[in-house]
Amino acid sequence: MPLESFDLSGKAAIVTGASSGLGRHAARSLAAAGAKVAIAARRLEPLVELEKQIEARDGRAIPLRLDVTDPASVADCVKAAETELGPISILVNNAGVAVTKAALEVEEADWDQVVGTNLKGAWLMAQAVAEHMVRLGHGGSIINTASVLGLAGAAQIPAYCASKGGLVNLTRALAVEWARHGIRVNALAPGYIETEINRDFLTSPAGESLRKRVPLRRFGTPEDLDGALLLLASEASRYITGSVIVIDGGQSAAL
Ligand code: NAD
Repeated sequence: MPLESFDLSGKAAIVTGASSGLGRHAARSLAAAGAKVAIAARRLEPLVELEKQIEARDGRAIPLRLDVTDPASVADCVKAAETELGPISILVNNAGVAVTKAALEVEEADWDQVVGTNLKGAWLMAQAVAEHMVRLGHGGSIINTASVLGLAGAAQIPAYCASKGGLVNLTRALAVEWARHGIRVNALAPGYIETEINRDFLTSPAGESLRKRVPLRRFGTPEDLDGALLLLASEASRYITGSVIVIDGGQSAAL
């Protein structure tokens, strides 16, 4: 397959939760591959900084305020992205939160925040972007950021596991339904990737013992997701839909 099929020149993308961690890095990677990127999150200041970084490398980015749990905010974001960048052909559903608590301690507000952001938020974004893709008739690629915790369980993080498991199967359901519109829907399932969400834990003694159980003997970096991200975003994955790509250094393959 020619390398050009990974090229995103001229394509427009939306990345949710682009103000930090994996989302910020994904926005930079898509821009470096040629895409025009709407970088969206609740706070604008870090997005303006990211916009400057992307533009300093001759990329195009527009910062947009977005709360994925709010349908009106989702609609405004997709409309603004379309107005500024033209037809949107890539959505990276990255916004996510975690609450780490014993199952017996989890309160309804914790559950609603985690499932509302990670599952309902991804759904609202996918529906709004797919409506736009169907209306314009050009298809596209939706990439949901799930987790290995959507494929297996872990203690102390039940709402997160439920939200990511739901997101994995939502990915399959939408892939089946929207294939007729040329919309591919896939998921990334990262293992432990060092970012703001988990740095304290991964650098603690408990994190160190976890690292020894990863077959590749290290935690991931945001750059480790680039191959799968650019594959799923580009025409290189034109026959891939409903798939979940695990990026975890072999962690979930080991007993
Ligand atoms: P992070 O906390 O650095 O980034 C999460 C982003 O989501 C932030 O920009 C935050 O502002 C945004 N966000 C949260 N709620 C939002 C809302 N309501 N509306 C809009 N934006 C919102 O964490 P990260 O590690 O970069 O995680 C990114 C995604 O990757 C998450 O979905 C996370 O569950 C997933 N993930 C991370 C890892 C990991 O090890 N870091 C592993 C598997 C999956």
